[in-house]
Parts: sequence; structure tokens; C-alpha cells
Amino acid sequence: MARIVVIGAGLGAMATAARLAVAGHGVTVYERGSTYGGAVGRFERDGFAFDTGPGLLHLPAVYRDLFVKTGKEPLEERVALTQVDPAARHVFADGTRVDLPNASRAGTVAALDTALGAGAGERWGDFLVRAREAWDRTRRPLLEEPRPADPAPLAREPYPALKPGLLRRPTTTLAQVGARELREPRLAALLDAYAWSYGFDPATAPASAAVLPYMEQTFGSWYVGGGLRALADAVYERCRERRVAFVFDTPVEAVLEKDGRAVGIRTAGGDIVEADHVVSGAPVPALYRDRVVEGGAGDGLPGHQAIGTSRVTACLALRGPRESEAVHRTVVHAEGERPTVTVLRPDDPALRPDADHESVTVTATVPTAPERDAAGWEAFAERMVEAAGRAVPGLRGRLLWQHVRTPEDVRRETGAAEVPGPALAGAGGRLLPADNRSPLPGLWFAGGWSHPGGGLAHAGMSGALVAGFIVEGADFRGSR
Ligand SMILES: Cc1cc2nc3c(=O)[nH]c(=O)nc-3n(C[C@H](O)[C@H](O)[C@H](O)COP(=O)(O)OP(=O)(O)OC[C@H]3O[C@@H](n4cnc5c(N)ncnc54)[C@H](O)[C@@H]3O)c2cc1C
Repeated sequence: MARIVVIGAGLGAMATAARLAVAGHGVTVYERGSTYGGAVGRFERDGFAFDTGPGLLHLPAVYRDLFVKTGKEPLEERVALTQVDPAARHVFADGTRVDLPNASRAGTVAALDTALGAGAGERWGDFLVRAREAWDRTRRPLLEEPRPADPAPLAREPYPALKPGLLRRPTTTLAQVGARELREPRLAALLDAYAWSYGFDPATAPASAAVLPYMEQTFGSWYVGGGLRALADAVYERCRERRVAFVFDTPVEAVLEKDGRAVGIRTAGGDIVEADHVVSGAPVPALYRDRVVEGGAGDGLPGHQAIGTSRVTACLALRGPRESEAVHRTVVHAEGERPTVTVLRPDDPALRPDADHESVTVTATVPTAPERDAAGWEAFAERMVEAAGRAVPGLRGRLLWQHVRTPEDVRRETGAAEVPGPALAGAGGRLLPADNRSPLPGLWFAGGWSHPGGGLAHAGMSGALVAGFIVEGADFRGSR
């Protein structure tokens, strides 16, 4: 039995901890905050509750596998999972609306034809065929297997863009895919919105970001009853059942090294904890910035995703019941100064004081630079609420109060103001996260800042990969 220390109690770290404990290791998690879950938080006030991190789950298979492998129990026994249908309503800048069904290619094509004019659905369907090719080419190395020793092939673009016209430069960005292949401003805005929702600017995101709408529209969007925080609760409980120990309010200040190998940690309180392996689920850039791991930029810092964006979330407490025709997710597309926002209205009694009230979250992706002051964020939140008014009838009149969360809140809860996105191929490798194998033997990286990247499913996969390395050794090639 090895002694294993895990830094941070985010979802990627907890997924690793549960798997290692089941393999017979002694696992202790050191978390600097007073609770588990990291980004997957909950804000509660006056009987209203809101997810402060992700509001939907994609690729639930990752957590199904975790629960089966750590306890021979279906995920559905621990949390209530429902498919969100329609997957999303889109409200475009010109006021056009379209409801896209969950995981139905034919339904999506028909809905787009009806809302945007004949031919729109077919163009989107043809685009998804090309997106699938990019998905098939990268799914294993970018999601299911350890990061390849030579990531150079992943730095190349896998999306089979249509040939550009004469004299045109080749298609490299997602925005170019929209303009050249979808040839309809609203269809292009639809594509852009998928990139924004994962934190990528379509003007700079590689064409391979086409896998994001492919993934959602093929495998569906899921809601966890009680909010996504209920998933964090379930993973934490599973860890506890497998005798993972948790030490809260204890930041890790340093990874200890001896003879070129990680041999333990030092907490901020000065305690030394020896370990055979150290797994860090804390953000990789913060580990180096705060010198938890020796070595700064250009001095051993492993390559990690440079995304440059975070989220602003407005939690809105509304009086009056949710109207019966309300949908769970509405994307209100940008118009002028107003950003693209995602409005989530789960029909979940656990999130509201009674049926005469409703809790709504509104999220926008924002660049982390330049920084804004309090007044800047207030003005930005005002524009978000204005946009949300296009998804919630009579919003202003119903608003009891609002609570706005900025990138500074994200930094407080995770250790990084930026929110990492899933690994993407292309872009010269700029969007590939750090390897799970750190430069220091015995130190491993799990969670959204390491392969295969950010997001619940991807961070959950990092747990399977790191546990695989520790249990099966360096030859581990991913579970089949
Ligand atoms: C506002 C927001 C919206 C999001 N929306 C989506 C979405 O729509 N879809 C999606 O899939 N994903 C989304 N994400 C991302 C997703 O929540 C994360 O990628 C996922 O939860 C994985 O997190 P993680 O394992 O990297 O750990 P994190 O959640 O980053 O947690 C890291 C943990 O490590 C702890 N820690 C840091 N440093 C130390 C230290 N030195 N010592 C001890 N502990 C330390 C932190 O306190 C924290 O608990 C969102 C995130 C945020 C913040």
C-alpha cells in the first residue's frame, strides 16, 4: 500500500483519490478551502440556491465509469440525472429563436431549417459530419489516453475544412469555419456560442473546436437533480466510503523533493507529510506561480493551456413562478455591447424557496485581461441581466436581488482566475494542457489544468489516467 497525498479537493483530484483508494492505497487530500468541489460550488441565500460553476454535465459516461469502478454502483443510484430537452433555446441578435432538441441530429436540422430558412439545417448537418471526423481523429489521444510522449501531431489541425476559394488563406480558426462553411450569420453565431461556452474565443480558437458542438449534439446535455453541486457531494461521499481522508483549511505550500523525486508535501502550517506519490489537483500555473513546485516560467514550467478567459455568473432570485413553457437553457447571442450569455432555469424545487419563486443563473465568458474594478463588473453584470431579459419574460419586475460572481471569486475557489477548457488539437499545441506526468517523478497532475483539460468530464478522465499511471506503472496506455 502506497501513501498518497492529493493536493486540492476539486473534481479531478477527488476522482483520482477514489480510484487510488479502491486500488488499496492510503490516500489523504489536503484542501486549502473549507469544502470540497473547487469550481463546483453552490451559493445559497433566502431559500434560493445556485450552481456557481458548471450547470450542465456532458459525457456522463466518465462519472458512470468512476462510480462503477469504485463501488460497482450506477451513477444514477447516487444522483438524479435527466437529459435537458430542448438542449438549448437560441435567441439571436435579430430576435430569431430556435429550440434545438437534445441529441437529435435530424431534429436539429429540421429546427434550423424552420427557424433560419431552408438549407440552413443541411449546412449545419454537413458541418457536423466534418466535425465528427475531427472528433474521431482526436478522441483517443485527447480524451481517453495519456497525452502522447510526442504531442507534435496534436498541434496540427485535424478538422477537414472545405477548400478555401482561390487566393484565400487556409481555414485555421473556428470563426473562419463559420463564415466560410455555414454562410449564414446566425448559424455562425450558433457555432461561436459553443466556443465561448467552453472559454474559447472563436476568432482565435482552432477549427478543431468544431468537436464541441459535435460532442454536445451527439452525446447530449444532462442535469443533476439538486444542481451540479450534488455531483460533487456524491463524489466526495464515494471518497469517504473508500476511506479517503480529507484535511480542509490546509493549503499545501511546497512539494518536497529528495534525490530527484517527490517525497511529500509541506503545509502552510509547516507540517511535513511524507508520501510515495503526490497528486496535485490544484491549478498547474498556480503551483509554479506560488512556488509550490520549484521552478518558474522558463525554468521547468511544463507547457499548459493558455486560455485567457474566465466566467462571470449572476445569480438572480426572482419572485413569481417559472412559466410552464420556460426552457432549461437559453443562449442569448451578443448584440452591440451586450455579451453572449447562457441563462439556466432548472425546474428544480431544491433550488427555490417555493413554487412562487425561481432561481436563475446567467453566465458569460470574459477575458481575464484587462482587469476590471468593482464598477466595471457592475456595469458588465447590468448588460448580462439585460440580455437575460430576452430569455425570462418580465425579468426586471420579478427581480428580488442579484449576486454577481467575478473571476476573482473563481480565483478564490480554485487558485486560478482563468477557467481551463478541454484540450483542443491544432493551434500549434497552445490549447494542450500539461501532461499528467510532471517533470518531477512521483508528482502527478490531475484536474482541469492537466491532460485532457477542463470541464467536469475531462477533469474526471484525468483522475482515471493518473490513477492508471500510479497503479499500473509508466506503461499505462489508458483504460479500454
Ligand atoms: C464559473 C465556472 C463555470 C464553469 N462552467 C463550466 C461548464 O459550463 N462546463 C464544464 O464542463 N466546466 C465548467 N467549468 C470548469 C469545471 O468546473 C472544472 O474544470 C472542473 O470542476 C474540474 O475542476 P478541477 O478538478 O480542475 O478542480 P478545481 O475546481 O479547479 O479545484 C481546485 C481545488 O484545489 C484547491 N487548491 C488550489 N491550490 C491549493 C493548494 N496550494 N493547497 C491545497 N488546495 C489547493 C482549490 O481550493 C480547489 O478546491 C466552470 C468553472 C467555473 C469556475
